[in-house]
Amino acid sequence: MKNKRELLTITDEILDEFPDLVDVAQDYLNKRIRLGSPCRHLNGSRCWTYAGHVRVDGYGMATMSCKEIAKDITFKCRAHRLAYMVWVDRIKKGVVQHKCDNTNCVNPDHLQDETQSQNIIDAYKRRDCASQFNKTWKLTAAAVSMIKKLSRAGIISIQEIAKAFSVCDQTVMKIRDGKTYWYID
Ligand SMILES: [Zn+2]
Repeated sequence: MKNKRELLTITDEILDEFPDLVDVAQDYLNKRIRLGSPCRHLNGSRCWTYAGHVRVDGYGMATMSCKEIAKDITFKCRAHRLAYMVWVDRIKKGVVQHKCDNTNCVNPDHLQDETQSQNIIDAYKRRDCASQFNKTWKLTAAAVSMIKKLSRAGIISIQEIAKAFSVCDQTVMKIRDGKTYWYID
């Protein structure tokens, strides 16, 4: 009788248990990447379109068996989560978002842990809490830079960014579109 293969979803813990899986997964993804269209939000950086199995919800799915690693296990994972784990970092909060809004993209530069964008806002709020009482009209260069990054990433809404920095929506949009503070990166 043929042994049934166990189907395991790849997580941080599974990578700890099977460290060789990182190489296998990188290789697996590399063979299935096609250069996609440049992303408007991300300075024209191109999407890496996953050319493997894509589910109806638009997410790529990776399924790997490697007898050198584990004979009776088939590993599976959503392609963008796998790309994040093997090329960027561990997934701390469990959600990997696309900065490019392309669910089938596995370009590590286009992927972001959900907590990162919130962390930036939280850090800014903590640090600049005191300076809000100065009632200065001008934003600091650091604040402009952060507003630019966040608004172009398109993960947090313009309204949320405006609220976090105590400015109006128009200000955020002008910064995003380079109409004001174009000289700050
Ligand atoms: Zn992309």
